[in-house]
Formats: sequence, C-alpha cells, structure tokens
Amino acid sequence: MSADAINVRMLIDGALVASPGTVDVVNPATGKVFASAPRASAQDLDLAVAAATRAFESWKTSPIAERKALLQKAGDLILAHADELAAIFTREQGRPLPLSLQEVQGAGQWFHATAALDLPVDVTEETDARRIEVHHVPLGVVCGIVPWNFPVLLAAWKIAPAILAGNTIVLKPSPFTPLCTLKIGEILRDVFPKGVLNIISGGDELGPLMTGHKGFAKITFTGSTATGKRVMEAAARDLKRVTLELGGNDAAIVLPDVDPGKVAEQLFMGAFFNSAQVCVATKRLYVHEDIYEAVRDRLVKLIEGASMGDGSEQGVLFGPVQNLPQFNRVTALIEEARADGLTLYQGKTPSSQGGYFIPLTLVDNPPDSARVVQEEAFGPVLPMLRFTSVDEVIARANDTEYGLAGAVWSADLKQAAEMAARLDTGTVWINQNLQSTPLTPLAGHKQSGVGVENGVYGLMEFTQPKAIYIPKDTSSVR
Ligand code: NAD
Repeated sequence: MSADAINVRMLIDGALVASPGTVDVVNPATGKVFASAPRASAQDLDLAVAAATRAFESWKTSPIAERKALLQKAGDLILAHADELAAIFTREQGRPLPLSLQEVQGAGQWFHATAALDLPVDVTEETDARRIEVHHVPLGVVCGIVPWNFPVLLAAWKIAPAILAGNTIVLKPSPFTPLCTLKIGEILRDVFPKGVLNIISGGDELGPLMTGHKGFAKITFTGSTATGKRVMEAAARDLKRVTLELGGNDAAIVLPDVDPGKVAEQLFMGAFFNSAQVCVATKRLYVHEDIYEAVRDRLVKLIEGASMGDGSEQGVLFGPVQNLPQFNRVTALIEEARADGLTLYQGKTPSSQGGYFIPLTLVDNPPDSARVVQEEAFGPVLPMLRFTSVDEVIARANDTEYGLAGAVWSADLKQAAEMAARLDTGTVWINQNLQSTPLTPLAGHKQSGVGVENGVYGLMEFTQPKAIYIPKDTSSVR
C-alpha cells in the first residue's frame, strides 16, 4: 500500500470528518512521517459529545438483542478487513505483519465474544409482598482513551462493552497510532445508529480536553500510571466514573524444578513479545540460583538469534519500539545499567538507519535498587535476578507500587498455586504468560489501575445498578 493511500478521517455523528489541522504519523521502522491524521479541535470534540448525547437517548433503551446483533456485525466487518488493517497497523505500530494481523483479528473476535455477554436483571428479594429488581443501566456518554502498544485490541475492549451496555462513546487513539483505529471507524460507520460510536484523533492536547469535558459520564482509560493519575484528577471534578488500566512491573518467578531450556523459550516471548511493549510482559525475571545460569545461557542464545527489523519484511519477529520518546527512555535505561557496570547481553538490530530499533537486552543479576528493576521499562530490556528462597522472592516480587500480573513457573502445581495466592497482582499465570480471554477480568491492583476490563466484570463498569421495588398488589394506594 502506498503512503498516500492511507487517507483517514474521524467518525463524528455518523459522518467522516476531516480537519484543517493534522498530526504526523511516523513509521517507527524508518523514523519517517508516512501519513497524517486529523487533529480534532475543541469544536470537533463538542460535536462528537453532542452527537453521542443525542444518540444515547434512544440507544439506552434499545433492545439488548439489537445491540448484540450490531456488535456481531461490527466484528464481522473488522475480520473481513483484517488484511488491509494489519498492513496499516504494521506501518504505524511497527509490529511484524503476522502479529499485527493477530491483533486485528483478536479485536474482531473480542466484538463477537462481548456480544455474547448478558446483563440480566438481579432479584434481591422475592416475597408475597414485593419483588426487588436490580437493573444494570448505562451511564451515558463514555470517553475512551487508548495507548499505542495494542491500539486496536484495546479500542475493542472499550467500544464493545460500552455499546453493549447501552452507552454511546467517543474514543481517542494515541497520537502515535491513530490510523488503524480511524479506519475501523470508517469501516463501522453505518453499523450503529449515528452518534453511538465516534472516533476522533488529535495531539497531546486532546486527552486533557476530553477528560475535562462535562458531557462525559465515564472515562475508560488505558495508559501509563502517571497519566492515569491525571485522568482521575480531571474526572474527580465532575465525579465521572473511571476505569483505569495502567502500568505494570510484572515479576515471573522460576522455581528450580523446571526444565531450564523449555522454560527459557517461553520466558523469552513473555518478556520480549511486541518488543516488550506489553503492559503484562515479564519485566522482572526471578530465577532460582540452582538453574540461574542454565536459564540465562539459553535466554542469551535466543536473544542473540532473534530477528529484528521492519515489521513489513518477512521472517522478522521483533519490530522497533513504537516512538521516539520511548526509544530515548529505554535507551537511557540501558545506558545507565551499562554505566553502572552491570553485565548486559544484547541481540542484533538491523543495519538500516533511522528506525527506533533497540536490541533485545538482558541485564544479568542487577541489584534490586537498579532503575531497570524499579521502573516499568516498557521496552526490550529485561533484568534477570537470582533468588534463593520462596519467601524471599515473593517479598521481592511484591515490593513494587504496581500490581498488574505475574507468573510462577514450576512442575509442582500445588506450590505454584500457593505462590500465586501470595502475589499481589490482578492476574497470575502458572507455567504460561501473556494470556487474556474475553471472559476473564484484567484488573490492576495497587497503582496498576482502578476497576477492570473484560467479561461481565468489565461490562458492569459501563453500568450502574438501579434498584426497583415492586409491590405484589396495589391495595395500599387504591
Ligand atoms: P500514556 O499514558 O502516555 O498515553 C495513553 C493515552 O493517554 C494516549 O492516548 C495519550 O494521548 C493520552 N493522554 C496523554 N496525556 C493525557 C492526559 N493528561 N489526559 C488524558 N489523556 C492523556 O501511555 P502510553 O505511553 O501510550 O502507553 C504505555 C503505558 O500504557 C504503559 O505504562 C503500559 O503499561 C500501559 N498499558 C496498560 C495496559 C493495561 O491494560 N493495564 C495495557 C496497555 C498499556
């Protein structure tokens, strides 16, 4: 696809809208601008919120069967356009094409899976005298804000449940990855009644404009913990509801009873998939001292053999990091570790100039106080840490302000389950990683978030309970 073939507009009130201002979109594999996206003005935002407010009046009472059917259709359309979307995805996000395709297809499947959820009326009392029903009613207009690491899937996680619950939504992709999401808006343009789904794009100024807008009843946000705090502050002014899916510094703990070679392969992808730009990636790897060297040596081999390059080229497994600020941050972390005299093992980067390529990097047993251990790197640098006892490693794993996910690797499932119970995180995987399903909540504990996404748990976050007391007869008023 040629660069000028990517012509994107915003979806506002059922119409595709351009804007005088634009935001440049850079291909992270080249460092060059290859397309642009509309830069929404405050007036565009007002129009989108007004359209969503009008649409809410009838959408909120539409039969759930109708909403399900339309979400199903939306999923079908995303799947039907998956190849076209994946090609754009790779150019703006940097991920290798087959993995881009996986994300786009995952988004379509998420629409389907969400369409299968229900919002049944609960009954809290049923006597001869009365019945008390609890209905889960929609909130109003939802503000959706999405980051650049999984731009399409995370948009689906917000759009589908918001709409199923009877809300309308105005969604904003990251300024770094607006294209694919806007294309999806174009593809879904005629699916929902106009104003139910609105997608607008812009620069750094748009997020705060949205979170401060009085027309929103709820903000569903995925991004860094620092930004999440700003979002919550802005929401507090109008008591907007919030769901915040934020950062993590996830620990994987490897016990000495596993096969080091087999586990190393899985740890490798758990840490470096998407060039480690995954909120639930392994970001601190704790390996028991008995097998530390064996696991490290295998990981180093995998790192040295990994193919990194432009995601549109065949055979590439790792792309660049997605943007220049992130490239600078992660590079600084690595250089600081080097300057501190820590031992680094690194993979190769492509020889082409200009892309945001960072070699896969393993930092060999740094002190717990090192910045590369303490901070969420969100890039391909993995601290590997030696441990001796279970109690010690659980304490070290939990010694963080984050609480997103974690993993335990062991041949002893009973011991692994006991350790899982002791990890202060919203998700724990045993002998696997990076898994999520449409029915399972993703919940950030501690400063990794507020509220949850996915499944009925996530769907409920787009509703509020409404109790209705219904007498069995009317003699008291006749
Ligand atoms: P970010 O916080 O910089 O930006 C996220 C989004 O917020 C972008 O759309 C951005 O434009 C917008 N934004 C920026 N400032 C804002 C403000 N003041 N008010 C409102 N919106 C604002 O995050 P990022 O760098 O795009 O994404 C990486 C982070 O996201 C990592 O910390 C990662 O762990 C986290 N993440 C979490 C999950 C999860 O489910 N918990 C999933 C993916 C990514």
